[in-house]
Amino acid sequence: MNASSVKTVTAQVLVVGGGPGGYVAAIRAGQLGLDTVLIEADRLGGTCLIRGCIPSKALIHVAARFEAMQKSVGDGHLGIALDTPPRLDLATAMRWKDGIVDRLSGGVAALLRKAKVRVLRGWAVFSDAKTCTVQSSEGPLTVKAEHVILATGSEPVPLPTLPFGGPVLSSTEALSLERLPRRLVVVGGGYIGLELGSAFARMGSAVTVVEAQPRILPLYDAALTDPVRRWLERSGVTVHLGARALGMETEGESHALVVQTADGGMSRLPANAVLSTVGRRPRLEGWGFEAMGVDRQGAFVAVDDQCRTSMRNVWAIGDLVGEPMLAHKASAQGEMVAEIIAGHCRRFAPTAIPAVCFTEPEIVSVGLSPDEAMAQGIDAIFDQFPFAANGRALTLDAGRMDAGGSGFVRLVARRDNRRVIGIQAVGAHISELSGEFALALEMGAELEDVAGTIHAHPTLGEVFHEIALRLLGRPLHL
Ligand code: FAD
Ligand code: NAD
Repeated sequence: MNASSVKTVTAQVLVVGGGPGGYVAAIRAGQLGLDTVLIEADRLGGTCLIRGCIPSKALIHVAARFEAMQKSVGDGHLGIALDTPPRLDLATAMRWKDGIVDRLSGGVAALLRKAKVRVLRGWAVFSDAKTCTVQSSEGPLTVKAEHVILATGSEPVPLPTLPFGGPVLSSTEALSLERLPRRLVVVGGGYIGLELGSAFARMGSAVTVVEAQPRILPLYDAALTDPVRRWLERSGVTVHLGARALGMETEGESHALVVQTADGGMSRLPANAVLSTVGRRPRLEGWGFEAMGVDRQGAFVAVDDQCRTSMRNVWAIGDLVGEPMLAHKASAQGEMVAEIIAGHCRRFAPTAIPAVCFTEPEIVSVGLSPDEAMAQGIDAIFDQFPFAANGRALTLDAGRMDAGGSGFVRLVARRDNRRVIGIQAVGAHISELSGEFALALEMGAELEDVAGTIHAHPTLGEVFHEIALRLLGRPLHL
């Protein structure tokens, strides 16, 4: 192929990666009238939509429905009794999940079209900071742009002794299984391991979790993770803490994961499949990043508070630039960068980025925990209110201990001016409260603002209202 036969496309803005960071950046840039090209090698929607947030939550929903039906077999539950156990057809459930993914991915394509973004399918490879080549369906194309937004996301990290392949699955393969593994060993008791591990346990797999740290979900404090730990225990999930996966032993069709346990001993955990979820790393290989002259900070791309890299008019967003590796952070950065390029004055300085773990029960954390406030030298007051005293939680059958009835909302405020600086919660169905919590922090709410807001009855959000009243010394329902 000689250089003259390669077609050249020019744009004001080139976005590489069509995940929640990249596609939002491209839509906003297009809306603002910038001539924008988006290159995506796979399907529009990225990790989040195609093999992450959305498929995992669909599977979690299937698992919860199945488990609820299982509970109704025989004597029944809540007056509902089934004479025969339900059957799970995982392949059909996966097709339902795929339908949701297809619909949302198609929606992203439509939104990009509406914003007049040109989408090129193919793998971009950069030769310098503003030029890349993509092998598109129309042949090779060179794309040159004034601004480049890097949004290539992240990929699962394999353990050196446990490469992906055969019975060792990453979250991507686990989200496409057509048959339930009878025995599933999960390596890594973090976000993905516990969200998916719990779902497989609810669907009927015998699940064992191997976590290197002394407790599960080490990102959250022990009080928040305790109801999850108890749910796992009650659901028959075995958890090995302080344990490390050493490798697989395979004999014919039988596999076992060899684990070093906390006491230094060895254990063999028989498994039909091993789900390895020990973290994700930025995707920086194979697309000419090194030719761009862009600095790194550790494993990630170094950016300032406007997501500018060290190279002029090259920007980076999302999982590529570091923790938290969350879809909503990627989207917020994408929207911001497009607006800065269009001349708006923006900075990425959120008061808080909500984190939600979709385990059973769910965990939400926004802002500072009591320990984090103390570590920052803030004189804080804090208290918590239990879901067991909330009418809505009970009507949702979520007040029982095994359904997170031991869950609570905890509120942290400054002692001097009563400003809310952190909200954490654990309980069934509470992911939907994360928006209210984040809004309170972003708006600089004080305890009186939360206490003075009439919360609809009966809702889970009333617990937030109650805990503010309690911290103000005038609780009504406790
Ligand atoms: P990505 O979504 O990774 O998108 C990057 C895109 O770039 C990909 O589509 C890739 O194909 C493309 N690409 C890369 N290199 C090139 C190239 N050279 N040329 C062309 N295209 C390229 N986050 C949440 O907030 N909530 C959740 O509930 C949640 N659940 C998750 C569950 C799982 C199982 C996983 C794996 C992740 C989950 N996440 C969740 C994390 C979330 O998916 C990521 O934070 C988010 O997708 C990051 O967005 P991004 O745009 O930075 O990158
Ligand atoms: P993670 O960082 O959440 O958890 C990894 C876990 O593996 C940690 O608990 C760690 O201690 C453990 N670990 C590391 N090495 C180990 C070893 N050798 N043996 C045993 N345990 C080991 O990572 P993840 O679960 O892979 O998820 C990756 C990222 O995806 C998350 O950090 C998060 O940003 C994102 N995510 C978010 C959500 C959500 O928002 N609900 C859901 C899934 C994923």
